[in-house]
Amino acid sequence: MTTGEMLDLAGLQLLIDALRGRGYRVIAPKLRDGALVLAEISSLDELPRGVGDEQEAGRYRTHVRGDSALFGFAATAQSAKPVLFPADEQLWRGVRTGAGFEASRTEPDAAPVALLGIRGCDLAAIGIHDTILMGRGAVDVPYSIRRSQCLLIAVTCGRPAATCFCSSMGTGPKPGAGADLTLTELLDDDGHRFLVETGSPAGEEVLEGLPSVEATPLDRAAADSVVAGATAQMVREMRIDDVPALLFASAESPRWEDIAERCLACTNCTMVCPTCFCTSVEDISDLSGDIDERHRVWDSCFSLEYSRLHGGAVRTSTSARYRQWLTHKLAAWPQQFGMSGCVGCGRCIAWCPAAIDLTAEVAALRDDAAHRGATRTVARSTSSPDR
Ligand code: SF4
Ligand code: SF4
Repeated sequence: MTTGEMLDLAGLQLLIDALRGRGYRVIAPKLRDGALVLAEISSLDELPRGVGDEQEAGRYRTHVRGDSALFGFAATAQSAKPVLFPADEQLWRGVRTGAGFEASRTEPDAAPVALLGIRGCDLAAIGIHDTILMGRGAVDVPYSIRRSQCLLIAVTCGRPAATCFCSSMGTGPKPGAGADLTLTELLDDDGHRFLVETGSPAGEEVLEGLPSVEATPLDRAAADSVVAGATAQMVREMRIDDVPALLFASAESPRWEDIAERCLACTNCTMVCPTCFCTSVEDISDLSGDIDERHRVWDSCFSLEYSRLHGGAVRTSTSARYRQWLTHKLAAWPQQFGMSGCVGCGRCIAWCPAAIDLTAEVAALRDDAAHRGATRTVARSTSSPDR
């Protein structure tokens, strides 16, 4: 059973105050233009009180829940990716001088950030980026600077969207390791309160200064039932044990052409994905030619130019690009980085304008493979010399 401390609403505000007092910008879910995004807050009144969400393939809506829950929704439209790995990052700037050209490296914004309210899927995605961008010999300096200044305050998902499948991926609905603090929102006859669990010395230090009380067995049981209820509500699932072998064996499947007839190669799925990290480098100069900047910008394996090698692009068809994305994400990524590239947040499903659903596509590829296997078996038996 869960252990921990309890904070009430006033205590949550004190947590926000304590973080700001330590110099953190507090970034949390906020309702903006009909979507839940991540933005800076200074008060819990800025959290999306009583807002829920509906997410389905190609569909995202918010609605009024009819209660006062502060975290009564699933994964926000934006993940934490833009906070730690911005979509456009200036790397250096050069200025023409009388004698030549002077270039200076652009220092990343290193202001401390507390990410409040991230879900288990996004916490796992940060762990993936930590491994890829900091844990493999070559360190991505801007990411590592921002990450070293970042406090993670996760929230248990109590109401997954129809697009979520974190329980299949082992990333939720209860956030796993990596959070400095984990909150579980409880809203029942015993009041509106939060179970707080610590995950690091930094989290313990912040919690120590707050007026928390020890969680009772009833509080802990209520928190456990939030997790059990969310797990039971999960509609989508993805069987992952056989996925790498399935995808590698499906390289020539006709399913890729079927997907390509629907896929617009718009790149939305990769932009919203909390783990996709492909970038390009762009050089920009002003009209006078006196100032030059180099930027790192998000790119996507769905864009034609991304596969350009000498002589041209090597993945010219949409089917090849979707196959590359799905096969890398679910099959090559585990070989390369030791973990799946998908955390089950469901954003690529909700934000795909063609309503393409990777869980359905994996299931279809599995059906196709089973059918091909059955066909081969029949072919072998009908061609047997005994018959
Ligand atoms: S799968 Fe959907 S979101 Fe991704 S590139 Fe194709 S149309 Fe766009
Ligand atoms: S592939 Fe889709 S479901 Fe998986 S982490 Fe990326 S956006 Fe989320």
